[in-house]
Amino acid sequence: MSRTKSHEIFARAKHLMPGGVNSPARAFGAVGGEPIVFERGQGAYLVDVDGNQYIDYIGSWGPMILGHLHPAVREALHAAVDQGTSFGAPTERENGLAELIIELVPSVERVRLVNSGTEATMSAIRLARGFTGRNKIVKFSGNYHGHVDSLLVAAGSAAATLGVPNSPGVTPGTAQDTIVLPYNDCNALDRLFEHHPDEIAGVIFEPVVGNMGCVPPMPGFLEKIREHCDHYGAVMIMDEVMTGFRVAIGGAQQLFGITPDLTTLGKIVGGGLPIGAYGGRADIMGHILPAGEIFQAGTLSGNPLATAAGIATLQTLKDTNPYPQLDSHTKLLEQGFTAAAAEAGVPTVTGRVGSMLTLFFHNEPVRSWEDAAKCDTARYGKFFWEMIERGVYLPCSQYEALFVSAAHTDEDIAKTIDAAKEALAALKK
Ligand code: PMP
Repeated sequence: MSRTKSHEIFARAKHLMPGGVNSPARAFGAVGGEPIVFERGQGAYLVDVDGNQYIDYIGSWGPMILGHLHPAVREALHAAVDQGTSFGAPTERENGLAELIIELVPSVERVRLVNSGTEATMSAIRLARGFTGRNKIVKFSGNYHGHVDSLLVAAGSAAATLGVPNSPGVTPGTAQDTIVLPYNDCNALDRLFEHHPDEIAGVIFEPVVGNMGCVPPMPGFLEKIREHCDHYGAVMIMDEVMTGFRVAIGGAQQLFGITPDLTTLGKIVGGGLPIGAYGGRADIMGHILPAGEIFQAGTLSGNPLATAAGIATLQTLKDTNPYPQLDSHTKLLEQGFTAAAAEAGVPTVTGRVGSMLTLFFHNEPVRSWEDAAKCDTARYGKFFWEMIERGVYLPCSQYEALFVSAAHTDEDIAKTIDAAKEALAALKK
């Protein structure tokens, strides 16, 4: 596969943007080599600037659950563009998207639209703090909630640790009110709440982690968070930026039957346009300005294009129910990858919930960041490039989940499994 034009464009980009990109995850840093520059997407496929075609399992890191350029989304966008792109004033489309969110995610009684997942989580933790009058936020290692200063904090030891910032520029003062615990560790949660009964404003978590590869919650873990938040008066913030409308139409909270106090949304809720949302209990949301006193705002929030794409996406998901097909296709991939790895003699385990899947290059179950950190990431990198050469675009890091879309056909899945057989066999050579 030749990627001459891609190379030229990226060489220019490196002089224009830090590292040549506008977000680090797409820079291929974890797999070595240069990112591919794309020209267009159609259904389950991406085409790069050199004309190479790839089956896409990233889907813009989650939003494109219907595939690229879905007719309903395209038409909704065209109609919206013709009416003007931003007014900074109420529109009926905002109601339309809010109504769909509230209908599909019943724990959300009131919702505020923002412009990214990061804004959603940033606002949700401010609200939790303002509502409870407490300072501390609990998060879990390996969970990503956007680049909010106080959430850019890595894990310490297995016990609860006070936050240590893991990006220069995040001050110790900002990080000190973040407490990091290991994911799926109920005992650590018990100990933490016993020691800090009156200090925890909220617990924010990914109900299925996508950001250390796909790691499902162990039975009882989400229930334990709910129980402690109820008992100690902390706000339970389920970060469904990735899982919302993905693992079920009502998100992970529907799949696992857990009702959070606040939910953060992004990705699919904007159908490929920049959007985020946070919402939940009406009594908590009532504290947001101008209904209440907690500040949060946005010039482009509730933007006509983003709400048009979001409505079209959610409405199509509701009308077509792609979830059984998404699940069966992803299960086939999981089984195909596992069988191919076994045949090639390459140790792997998988993590999957619905259409989120990760093939971990590790020989033991991955339940936490502490487990995930032991994966053979160099081997993942080789697998990634072998798949690229066979026209399959997987996440460019061991620590990202792949996403199957409703546009993937039986044939796409079969082709991907065939590619994986060859790619995994090639790893042994
Ligand atoms: N929360 C989760 C669970 C995410 O996966 C992400 C992004 N991958 C974010 C928050 C941040 O969203 P955004 O990139 O839109 O700011």
